Amino acid sequence: MAILVLGGAGYIGSHTVYELIERGEDVIIVDNLETGHIEAVHEKAKFYKGDIRDRAFIDSVFEKEEVEAVIHFAANSLVGESMINPLKYYDNNLCGTKVLLESMVAHHIDKIVFSSTAATYGEPKSIPILETDATDPTNTYGETKLSMEKMFKWTSKAHDLRYVSLRYFNACGAHKSGVIGEAHAPETHLIPLILQVPNGQREAISIFGEDYETKDGTCVRDYIHVTDLAQAHILAVDYLRKGNESNIFNLGNGVGFTVKEVIDVAREVTGHPIPAKAEPRRAGDPAKLIASSEKAKEVLGWNPEYTSLEEIISSAWRWHQNHPNGFKQA
Ligand code: UDP
Repeated sequence: MAILVLGGAGYIGSHTVYELIERGEDVIIVDNLETGHIEAVHEKAKFYKGDIRDRAFIDSVFEKEEVEAVIHFAANSLVGESMINPLKYYDNNLCGTKVLLESMVAHHIDKIVFSSTAATYGEPKSIPILETDATDPTNTYGETKLSMEKMFKWTSKAHDLRYVSLRYFNACGAHKSGVIGEAHAPETHLIPLILQVPNGQREAISIFGEDYETKDGTCVRDYIHVTDLAQAHILAVDYLRKGNESNIFNLGNGVGFTVKEVIDVAREVTGHPIPAKAEPRRAGDPAKLIASSEKAKEVLGWNPEYTSLEEIISSAWRWHQNHPNGFKQA
């Protein structure tokens, strides 16, 4: 029996596939390659190019393959873009998941681990954020992920299907092999954008808002290494394999860093002065997001390995230095 990874050519998906294969699992990848990269597909995984909104396609994968569980990363995930083009997010994230669930139910596939986000919480009432806290997203991306969680919840009540939703905080870093890493086009995430400066691709890093109620006025985020996120997905599959009930877990380091602190650590790691310039706030950005991941540690036995920002940025720097154009040749 295999694990089907939807979006397995993307950033977090490809890192999860690498960990699954290292562990000896059979892996099948489905990706439409809209934002994923064929170069990120592990050679030992079986690959199908296609879109989860295409019912005939997803049905054909379940018919050809013996799928034990699904890990679902196939979604759009940019906060800024989701505010400019909200219906793209409803179409891909919600319509895609609806078709997927119809097909899973029809083929009696009863386990799914799903990538959700800290953006489901919106502006938090208290820090660190617990899974039981209120959810009130401040952007379309978070809203669609929350709606996806609810789609799983109600489907699991009506059908023989259990799910684990993993609410990630800020995914970053790159695989230890240096073979895969973060490669978005256009890039919008803080750490890869900062590293474009020492890589000679950008003059300065923009700081979006210096007037937040935080210690230095810049936004605070909880940065978590992509390999630690990957491990949590595998633990979540094991959790469902043991027959446990559907559940939701936060995944973060439990420590917050301001944008300015992240830039300072990147200056240390790269030895480059990395000039920064203040810009207005970005729409939809909450001031402070820090996870409590105690539940994932207790229930899943999750134990993040890359706990320092230096290690995380060093792994990202190794990848970006060797792959300044992502997976494309220079
Ligand atoms: N950010 C910034 N400059 C940039 C990109 C991001 O100041 O060029 C800030 C952004 O406003 C947020 C934090 O860095 O407070 C992390 O943003 P990112 O897009 O990496 O992740 P998000 O928190 O949106 O998931």
